[in-house]
Amino acid sequence: MDQDRVDNGLRRFESLCRERGLPLTVQRREILKALLQRDDHPTADQVYGCVKERITGLSRTTVYRVLETLVRLGVVRRLHHPGTSVRFDGKISRHHHLVCRKCNRVIDLENRSLDHLELSSMRLHGFQVEDYSVHLVGVCADCGRKSRPTS
Ligand SMILES: [Zn+2]
Ligand SMILES: [Zn+2]
Repeated sequence: MDQDRVDNGLRRFESLCRERGLPLTVQRREILKALLQRDDHPTADQVYGCVKERITGLSRTTVYRVLETLVRLGVVRRLHHPGTSVRFDGKISRHHHLVCRKCNRVIDLENRSLDHLELSSMRLHGFQVEDYSVHLVGVCADCGRKSRPTS
């Protein structure tokens, strides 16, 4: 776990709340912290499972609502990958993903050439690109090992 990432993320969030006059609730803070502490791109249910002990009386609905707020504020990203349920990512700097089609694991991928795609050379049909993230779909190392016949 990267403590700097957690601290910076929380600080950023606190100043955003101040700027927009949003109350900095314990729920929002704890849910963001949980996301910043993990890099496995949990589902809303996994986030709930991870913070419910820390916040008394927390409901699943509240977790869903708080996650939406965090996404809207831009401190958390929602990931849509075909075949997987919606996942959340506390890492908002540009990065890419390896998506395992067997176990649905989502692994962060840092790659400078993917960060700097030559968009100007593509036919974009008038589309204005604001952001992108590449996901490579395949089979992770663990699943690959499992499916190989043992001799
Ligand atoms: Zn896998
Ligand atoms: Zn990620």
